[in-house]
Amino acid sequence: MNTETLNRPLAPVVARPRDVEQVIAGLATSDGAGVKLTRVLTQPLQRRLDPFLMLDAFGTDNPDDYIGGFPDHPHRGFETVTYMIDGRMRHRDSAGHEGVLQNGGVQWMTAGRGIVHSELPEQQEGRMEGFQLWLNLPAKDKMRAPWYRDIQSAEIPEFTTDDGAKVRVIAGTSHGVAGAMTRETTDPLYLDVALPSGTSFAQALPAKQNAFVYVYRGALRIGGVNVPAQRMAILRNEPDRDGAVVTATADARFLLIAGTPLDEPIAQYGPFVMNTRDEIMQAVADYQAGRFTG
Ligand code: FE
Repeated sequence: MNTETLNRPLAPVVARPRDVEQVIAGLATSDGAGVKLTRVLTQPLQRRLDPFLMLDAFGTDNPDDYIGGFPDHPHRGFETVTYMIDGRMRHRDSAGHEGVLQNGGVQWMTAGRGIVHSELPEQQEGRMEGFQLWLNLPAKDKMRAPWYRDIQSAEIPEFTTDDGAKVRVIAGTSHGVAGAMTRETTDPLYLDVALPSGTSFAQALPAKQNAFVYVYRGALRIGGVNVPAQRMAILRNEPDRDGAVVTATADARFLLIAGTPLDEPIAQYGPFVMNTRDEIMQAVADYQAGRFTG
């Protein structure tokens, strides 16, 4: 057996791909110290896309849109996954962690029982582009110790399909290639795919998982529905569907994200996401009393 064979990605057979349920434009907003962004996954979609709580997309050549960054702010009860396509951002937190996130790298941070951190640009000019996804934690893990990992671009497994799709596997498994991160309970899949115009990409998905695609370059067609750039397509859940098949109608780059729903109550107050209102009030009290020290 030669290793070349072993290393070849295993293309999945997706016989009955999911349809598009809804195409969503997102909401232009700003956060932190005036950072302009598009909130693609907004609070009203948290139930539908459980275990994902938020997806923000940012992309600009204008320093005024990002220079303020995100000064010190708290989080409790979930994980943040920041994927930097272009640019440099320094992270510092109350648990003593510090790192620079840049060009193709990912920061995976478990806020757990509480963290205070800052995310500040390390550039005065040039392009800043990327995404921040919030992944919920199951109730049993919400108060675990904070944790984080800076994943450099070179550490993210990549493969190219026979059709020329270039796939980066940030979390989960695609075509037999294990990603940089795995998570129990929610079993998230997080792919960044570059797909040449006219070609298709298939991904097996468990029927129980919620899944969506966010197109950030070019355009896709999914089951007869056009999904242009800067749009999210929510993929319909049906018990007999075994995955997703997408076709690029122009050279495209997109995120494919899926996860197993927690089916637990969601109580959110800004950067705190717990299960009950009482737990939220406790989070606010703990933060105000300076108990978010890592
Ligand atoms: Fe943050």
